[in-house]
Amino acid sequence: MQKSKSLFARAKKHIPGGVNSPVRAFKAVGGTPPFISKADGPYIFDVDGKRYIDYVQSWGPMVLGHNHPVIRQAVIDAAANGLSFGAPTEAEVLMAEKVNELVPSMEVLRMVNSGTEATMSAIRLARGFTSRDKILKFEGCYHGHADALLVKAGSGALTFGVPSSPGIPADYAKHTLTADFNNLDSVTRAFEQYPDDIACIIVEPVAGNMNCIPPVDGFLQGLRDICDQYGALLIFDEVMTGFRVARGGAQEKYNIKPDLTCLGKVIGGGMPVGAFGGKTEIMRHISPDGPVYQAGTLSGNPVAMAAGLASLGEIEKEGLYEQLTKTTQTLAEGIKKIANKHGIPMSVNYAGSMFGLFFTDAERVINYQQATSCNIEQFNHFYHGMLENGVYFAPASYEGGFVSAAHTDEIVQQTLTIADKVLANVAA
Ligand code: PLP
Repeated sequence: MQKSKSLFARAKKHIPGGVNSPVRAFKAVGGTPPFISKADGPYIFDVDGKRYIDYVQSWGPMVLGHNHPVIRQAVIDAAANGLSFGAPTEAEVLMAEKVNELVPSMEVLRMVNSGTEATMSAIRLARGFTSRDKILKFEGCYHGHADALLVKAGSGALTFGVPSSPGIPADYAKHTLTADFNNLDSVTRAFEQYPDDIACIIVEPVAGNMNCIPPVDGFLQGLRDICDQYGALLIFDEVMTGFRVARGGAQEKYNIKPDLTCLGKVIGGGMPVGAFGGKTEIMRHISPDGPVYQAGTLSGNPVAMAAGLASLGEIEKEGLYEQLTKTTQTLAEGIKKIANKHGIPMSVNYAGSMFGLFFTDAERVINYQQATSCNIEQFNHFYHGMLENGVYFAPASYEGGFVSAAHTDEIVQQTLTIADKVLANVAA
């Protein structure tokens, strides 16, 4: 840890908290974050030469595993032709066609540079299209750090117990209503109060920022119905679930068609990419076709498009999602069984290759309130034990985990062996 410690000390001098995104600072679990020098397949390696089995996978983009040879080569080839043109390219056309093929509800789409940009732009479009100001989101869902969405948000903000950030005018935040995930009554109540004012519901169809919470039966269909009843748009934030819980995302897995979809992470194969899109009649309101302004100097960047196209090409391989689902189930159920063997109550959730471990005696965790009342002390003990033994989980009890195609049965078994040793210690 010597080199990581020294880099962390230097980093803190010139970078807030020593990191460029808050959760990386290990505030929730304590200690020094390993500084990473390289990654390959299921592994990351720190600057001190230690190897970790990685269940963070860059917070989701690396569904194929790190440093995939096809993506790497695509980036190298694209970079040889220049890094950015600020003019249209064939790669952007191929990307739009590919996304539409995999996620058919995205009839028209626009590329952006991050998940935050995607959700921020989709919200503006929903407001512009409906001429309504209010939006509805769910407590514990995180949609990036745009002002309108950083209201009782999860992820880093949740971890630090800051439900909404200073710097967001109250006058602005008041347009964001929050409801309870997996609770249709709370949504109905909001619409009954503001029947003509809500432009859209934005939801993570599988919540991945309060650990991992899949939708209960009927929840997503209920949202679809309520939106149709009140003339609001349904936005699926599939930044995390897109190309991950199924090839066509959560909308394919649960068979619900949103009006707009936001993408990020896997669509860039590790490069900074996002996208938003949906029904043609709605998307035609985006400039220059329509009046809702949205733009980006580096949007559709040729190197990023090459990485994304390579990533989306690889996920088309037969059997990939069946394998990912099976691996994730073996891992999550395996850890739960071991925890229970040692007398530690645990509940697990998983959807596709997303999973969540909850140190709780609740049989099933379905909402924010349950997710935030788990045993954090036990989690932190488990977390550091795993890290010490070469397994890298997300450094906060409110964050879920990710499995990649590079996590073989053997890697999962190694993880379970380590978990057995660590959980015995947690129980002691
Ligand atoms: N939406 C969801 C569901 C996310 O998980 C995230 C990031 O984790 C975002 C949006 C924001 O994406 P980005 O960090 O690329 O801005």
